[in-house]
Amino acid sequence: MATKVLTKRKRIALVAHDHKKAELIEWAIYNKTVLAKHRLYATGTTGTLLETALDQSVTKFLSGPLGGDQQIGAQIAEGKIDVLIFFWDPMEAQPHDPDIKALLRLSATYNIPVACNRATADFIFTSPLMHEDYDAMLPDYSAYTQRKV
Ligand code: PGA
Repeated sequence: MATKVLTKRKRIALVAHDHKKAELIEWAIYNKTVLAKHRLYATGTTGTLLETALDQSVTKFLSGPLGGDQQIGAQIAEGKIDVLIFFWDPMEAQPHDPDIKALLRLSATYNIPVACNRATADFIFTSPLMHEDYDAMLPDYSAYTQRKV
């Protein structure tokens, strides 16, 4: 099976729904020193809040409901994001629900680590693999791409 290297300096995408933003920011401040070692990406509003809270530059995409989740999904499909921290809100319906599902689907498709809550984010961030190169298995989709249609 092919692998891809998630390098020591990882490309981390962060997204939080409105009722989860305070929790994400609190978590990010707690992990400020570790986050400073990596490159950060985020949906628009989450990214602006993170930049202010961390005093670290964040590559910002559009706001989630305006296409930001899809933009991050496209980055994952292109192998340009290594880790996804996605605090989605289980208690409120979102207008961009299909985009959220698509983002989670692509994360599974391309085998990247995903945290959908703080406990998982803590487990990922305390893993030694965050600080070293990691060979992630890249699922083999050749049977699908070369299928006879
Ligand atoms: P936002 O988008 O960071 O622009 O609020 C997050 C989302 O709702 O997906």
